[in-house]
Amino acid sequence: MTVNKILKRIFFYEIAKGMALTFKTLFTPPVTRRYPLVKRPVQPGFRGLHALAKNEEGKLKCVGCGLCGAYCPSQCIHIYTAEGEDHTKVVDRYEIEVLRCVYCGFCVEACPFGAISLSEHYEYSGYTREEFYMTKEKLLDNWDKYFTGDKGKRYYENFWRPKSEDFIAHEDQAMFSKVKVKAKE
Ligand code: SF4
Ligand code: SF4
Repeated sequence: MTVNKILKRIFFYEIAKGMALTFKTLFTPPVTRRYPLVKRPVQPGFRGLHALAKNEEGKLKCVGCGLCGAYCPSQCIHIYTAEGEDHTKVVDRYEIEVLRCVYCGFCVEACPFGAISLSEHYEYSGYTREEFYMTKEKLLDNWDKYFTGDKGKRYYENFWRPKSEDFIAHEDQAMFSKVKVKAKE
């Protein structure tokens, strides 16, 4: 053991250091927030409770393609479709087991129609599993509750990726309009 270490032990250096820190912070305001009385503002793009988007006519945007369910790493999205009039696909049931969700946002990214979204709502609790089993009706209600006004539109403008302009194609490659063209090197 070195002399330095011996002196530190004799004079309780580590304890004194800890106590100094305690006294230093003793009279400063506490950093702990008194939730739920004091809440931190939600950051843009926060991934909270799911909602199923409605179109301008107030109807379900989802077409039941199943991409969100296929991408979901937790396999917690269940979609049941049926054949409607004119052989169109009808979404009978769209369900999410919220307790299994890891809020990765892949479902939002996978959806080609901007039909599933993650709201800023994070304060939900309950006593039964059923309360966290989101049916199509509950998810549509969430859209009305958490994406009122133009909030839904802004959500997709700011956080829906990828957009066509995010892609870069080579000059002679077949592509959709709005795609950025990369000049030949
Ligand atoms: S956020 Fe992720 S885990 Fe949750 S439903 Fe969507 S894809 Fe599945
Ligand atoms: S939410 Fe989107 S990806 Fe999922 S089934 Fe509906 S349209 Fe398809």
